[in-house]
Amino acid sequence: TWSAVPAGPPDPILGITEAFKADKDPRKINLGVGAYRDENGKPYVLNAVKKAEEKIAAAKLDKEYLGITGLASFTQNAAKLAYGVDSEPLKQNAIAVAQSISGTGALRIGGAFIARHYPHAKVIYLPTPTWGNHMPLFKDSGLEVRRYRYFDSKTVGLDFAGMKEDLKNAPEGAVILLHACAHNPTGIDPTQEQWKELSDLVAEKKLFPFFDMAYQGFASGSTTRDAFAVRHFVAQGHDIALCQSFAKNMGLYGERVGAFSLTTRSEEEKKRVESQIKIIIRPMYSNPPLHGAHIANNILSDPELYQEWEGEVKGMADRIINMRERLYNLLTHELKTPGEWGHIKSQIGMFSFTGLKTEQCKALAEKAHIYMTMDGRISMAGLNGSNIEYFAQSVDAAVRG
Ligand code: PMP
Repeated sequence: TWSAVPAGPPDPILGITEAFKADKDPRKINLGVGAYRDENGKPYVLNAVKKAEEKIAAAKLDKEYLGITGLASFTQNAAKLAYGVDSEPLKQNAIAVAQSISGTGALRIGGAFIARHYPHAKVIYLPTPTWGNHMPLFKDSGLEVRRYRYFDSKTVGLDFAGMKEDLKNAPEGAVILLHACAHNPTGIDPTQEQWKELSDLVAEKKLFPFFDMAYQGFASGSTTRDAFAVRHFVAQGHDIALCQSFAKNMGLYGERVGAFSLTTRSEEEKKRVESQIKIIIRPMYSNPPLHGAHIANNILSDPELYQEWEGEVKGMADRIINMRERLYNLLTHELKTPGEWGHIKSQIGMFSFTGLKTEQCKALAEKAHIYMTMDGRISMAGLNGSNIEYFAQSVDAAVRG
């Protein structure tokens, strides 16, 4: 039956993990995977999560189905976290929220909703570059995907002029995907002033802002600061779509906890929108999983756990910021590696776009047992006190050729 099905290409990130696993050298480092690692290079389960799980176990909850849009207390608390308690549409009960299969599932519900109900051309603009799953995800949702400039390889910074020009030239009503904070893969975000300009431009051109927020709290260590763009756009009166993930900021990767939301103009409009979100979800997976939503909800609703969680998010963000500092100092001051490395310090979040060329990345894998994507992106979380010097020396050798 399937004799004509061609083999598809392997996933580039999972391919790196395979190569890493097969490598027997004790110095090997995996900088491909986008999951947090602690100072010992180990996966990290947050204390707030462990305590929430103890509370859940003690409560002896049943395993009944959730509703189509998930655990209501969780979705309300997730919306509060993103939009802020003072958000007008939140106060007016005008935000439609559905629990989702983490950030990816939220994006997919959003893609399907735009494809079915958006009253303008079903065109979405993605930054170049962007997270590798955005393009196939929105195409599979039935949208036409176009790109806008984002990264300037000369400055290893934001191509703000190019970005604005491309958004200006987008057709009226086009959907614009924006990484709310900690842009993946570049680690480069607009400044607050630039976000304000973007909000004005989006209003002027009547574009529709579609936010992907996979790293709230993880970028700066503050969930409020990282929500700046989302809250500013909403405060300026935009209707937005928002995809939230609790994979990174609560370390709930495999639990698949997230939320999709749309702001609307009234409670009545919200109800109509919500009914259509349900109609999209029901034939896809019926209803979302229970356990992760309970974990996140316990953390978001218990002041003590919330405080502990905030400290832990900040701890993760600070460790990464510290690694950026050390890597910058090693390359610039100690090894005097040719090139400009300031971007390592100024970039934000889990990833750094090092500016290393494909050949240099290959050399690092073959000669130094260091694995990363061939675009030069490294996961900063894979670095720690025990491997950062070896990593810097290896980068230095690769750059000198
Ligand atoms: N968006 C971006 C920009 C991401 O980096 C990620 C995770 N790599 C996601 C969405 C979704 O991740 P998840 O489905 O695990 O929440």
